[in-house]
Amino acid sequence: MRTSSSQDKAGIDPIPAALAALREAVDALGFIDADSPEAARYLHDWTGDYAGGALAVLRPSSVAEVQEIVRLCARHRVPLIPRGGNSGLVSGSIMTGEPRAVLVSLERLNRIRSVDAGNFTLAADAGAVLQTVKEAAEAADMLFPLALGAQGSCQIGGNVSTNAGGINVLRYGMMRDLVLGIEAVLPDGTLFDGMHGLRKDNRGYDLKQLLIGAEGTLGIVTGVEVRLFPRPANVETAYLGLGSFADAMALFGMARRVCSDLLTAFEVIGAECIPLALLVDPDTRVPLDGAWPVHVIMELSCSGAVDMRSLVETLFAEAHEAGALGDGALAQSRAQAKAFWAIRENLVEGQARRGRHVRTDLSVRLSKVAEAVERSRAYIGSAWPGWEPLAYGHAGDGNIHFNVMPPKNMADDAIRQNGVVMLDGLYDIVHDLGGSFSAEHGVGRSRRSVYWEWLSADERVIVRAIKSALDPNGIMNPGVLIPE
Ligand SMILES: Cc1cc2nc3c(=O)[nH]c(=O)nc-3n(C[C@H](O)[C@H](O)[C@H](O)COP(=O)(O)OP(=O)(O)OC[C@H]3O[C@@H](n4cnc5c(N)ncnc54)[C@H](O)[C@@H]3O)c2cc1C
Repeated sequence: MRTSSSQDKAGIDPIPAALAALREAVDALGFIDADSPEAARYLHDWTGDYAGGALAVLRPSSVAEVQEIVRLCARHRVPLIPRGGNSGLVSGSIMTGEPRAVLVSLERLNRIRSVDAGNFTLAADAGAVLQTVKEAAEAADMLFPLALGAQGSCQIGGNVSTNAGGINVLRYGMMRDLVLGIEAVLPDGTLFDGMHGLRKDNRGYDLKQLLIGAEGTLGIVTGVEVRLFPRPANVETAYLGLGSFADAMALFGMARRVCSDLLTAFEVIGAECIPLALLVDPDTRVPLDGAWPVHVIMELSCSGAVDMRSLVETLFAEAHEAGALGDGALAQSRAQAKAFWAIRENLVEGQARRGRHVRTDLSVRLSKVAEAVERSRAYIGSAWPGWEPLAYGHAGDGNIHFNVMPPKNMADDAIRQNGVVMLDGLYDIVHDLGGSFSAEHGVGRSRRSVYWEWLSADERVIVRAIKSALDPNGIMNPGVLIPE
């Protein structure tokens, strides 16, 4: 039986009427009852850390169906949770507690709409999987540079809504820098058509920018137009061994200058992460002589005939002389480059296999990266005996994932409770260094309290004003970003 809070003034529960109308609004494949076995896969996140409920799962097959769903939800005041590929790491599309929202999955809106080679743009439905978008760009001999571990499942609409980052931000920017157009259904069902594909367009407020990174709180993105780039014909990938994070950041500064600003990726991996990659692939071989405390995967790329190998060799010589570089290997083939990258990808999967742990997504100014890692390690070492810190990430963007594995056999509840206290300590360090607790994963529900705490009173007023201007009834993904 439903609580009285869901009953209208006449004491009638509006939910059954809303669900009946929603069932009518979509085709036969578009409505999944919440208690059917098919719904189960929508009700937990990728990590398994978050599980929730929904009144129903809706899978619209057209933009018109999305509009009708939103109109009906607005009329009946039923909250909606937009759902992309479910790879988000901050509980943005999982709502715990009594089910009171419908989940709207974009998975059936998955067409590549067009590739405009002359304009270097691609337009797709929001539910197109990132990997499919990348392949469509490649088929037209171009590059869509967004690259992240979840690219086989995350959707381009989810990437827009979280303002995704990944390994190529260094050269091409975050998703915000890659989006030229957005189509979205706003919280009253209105269609916002901003699929202009223009690089320059100063006609007043740029509404699409509000939707980027909004995590489904201001509307449902249904279409996206992105920038494409010439496909790099020339790629050099290096795997390096260094003495410390400070050396890695010194090398990064040198690499940007010496390599004609052709760096596309600069990933740093603390050596303590390597056993996690081995969990996924026991044949993993680190291409270094000796045991180095910090590893770097560095990639340069360009579309023309630049002699990048000699740039890298010059860098190696200078870095050796400066004492910043220990050992290094340059990939001699694409297969070897792929093997280097597999170490980085597998260590993320390896953490998931180890089970629940404490995750962060910190960013600081480049000059503070080494200090952030050292202070975080010292904090865990002194305050959390038996816990194992892991540091890796997109160091060229100042973004470190400083994660902490619990002592073996600790119960999930204890990990969760300790994690809350531990995160406070880690966030204090990053706050003290003038950084951010969320470099690329967003806020969702799991980082909402720290987000709200760090905002000034004036900023909170502005955030609430934006939300209520577009979503006065608060039906779009309630509980994400803003406390209810
Ligand atoms: C192995 C792994 C590696 C990862 N690596 C990175 C990385 O390097 N960089 C990075 O930035 N992230 C990374 N992530 C996080 C995640 O992949 C990104 O946040 C991704 O952009 C989420 O897209 P999604 O389609 O899976 O969205 P979902 O998880 O389904 O949703 C995320 C949020 O966006 C909202 N949303 C989704 N689709 C829409 C839509 N069409 N309209 C409105 N709102 C919508 C949801 O309500 C939710 O709040 C990683 C995740 C995993 C599992």
